[in-house]
Amino acid sequence: MRALTLTGDRRLALVERERPRVKEARDVLVRVHQTGVCGTDRSVLVGKFAAEPGVVMGHEAVGEVVETGPEVTALAPGDRVIVNPTLYCGRCERCLRGQTNFCHDKTGNEVGIDRDGSYADHIVLEDRFLHLIPDGVSYDRAVLTEPLACVLNNLDAADLDPGGQVTVVGAGPVGLVCAVAARHLGSGVTLIERDDFRRGQASELLTGFFASGVTVVGAGPDERPDRAPTVIDTVGNQLGTALDLADDTGTVVAMGYDSRAETTVRPLEILQRQLRIVGAGDYRGPHFPRAVEMAAGLPLERLITHRFPLERHEDAFAVLAAAGGTGYSALKVVIQSAEAAA
Ligand SMILES: [Zn+2]
Ligand SMILES: [Zn+2]
Repeated sequence: MRALTLTGDRRLALVERERPRVKEARDVLVRVHQTGVCGTDRSVLVGKFAAEPGVVMGHEAVGEVVETGPEVTALAPGDRVIVNPTLYCGRCERCLRGQTNFCHDKTGNEVGIDRDGSYADHIVLEDRFLHLIPDGVSYDRAVLTEPLACVLNNLDAADLDPGGQVTVVGAGPVGLVCAVAARHLGSGVTLIERDDFRRGQASELLTGFFASGVTVVGAGPDERPDRAPTVIDTVGNQLGTALDLADDTGTVVAMGYDSRAETTVRPLEILQRQLRIVGAGDYRGPHFPRAVEMAAGLPLERLITHRFPLERHEDAFAVLAAAGGTGYSALKVVIQSAEAAA
């Protein structure tokens, strides 16, 4: 099969690989239909996040079951499935406490990072990490499930006040999914984005989703929304801004990935304004089925602006970069596996 692997100098190479096989009793072989390009993938290629050279990258995948091990009962060939790429052992102390996203047995178990992922024609996973796509839900909608699971974990960590106000910083794909999910759960949402393209897309998408309760604003000082009880930084380097945007007694969630970001925090302000800063990681086991169910009712496929076949991976990543001062031109990009695209 064909696969995109990580080279030693942090590029992707299209290579011929042996098709993975069903070896264990609960293994399932999936023909990959498509994979969403995640911010993490870009971070790996620009050196902001570590991954294992030689690994097949890609983790936000959907596809079709081709073959199952003898003990698999819930899935059969032909079933359409979503990959849950945050593998966990289920037995260690963290897993037993429900913190499966911090499983002690992570090494060699992160799909697309240190274990072969889905930028390929096929992938093999244990059946418990594959979820059936509900009837009537397209692959395009289902491929946004994994980011939605991350968002649900972060919204849980924020302890949302039902009907309260949430400010989301950043209207990239995760910021948009976050705004959609928070509004769907009953919050009023203000989304802040400085890039014109993304702000325009966000306005169009959100006003298309919801009749009221969402506002999209720029990042200028005169556009600042009122302070909100919950602020979520989906960019990863906006914690200072997020603290300014939080109401007294509010909660700020650090959600975006940026390994280079640093922020000065004034402890007295945290104390006197009774602010809470929380981090939640990606998502825990139970968030995934919840995300599958919630995604079924949300037109998340509208976030997809570009799709490319495996061999055009360079174009897929190029379109995601904010090109030299002209800003962004893409939201969610998906890479279609060769057999599915053919
Ligand atoms: Zn991801
Ligand atoms: Zn574990």
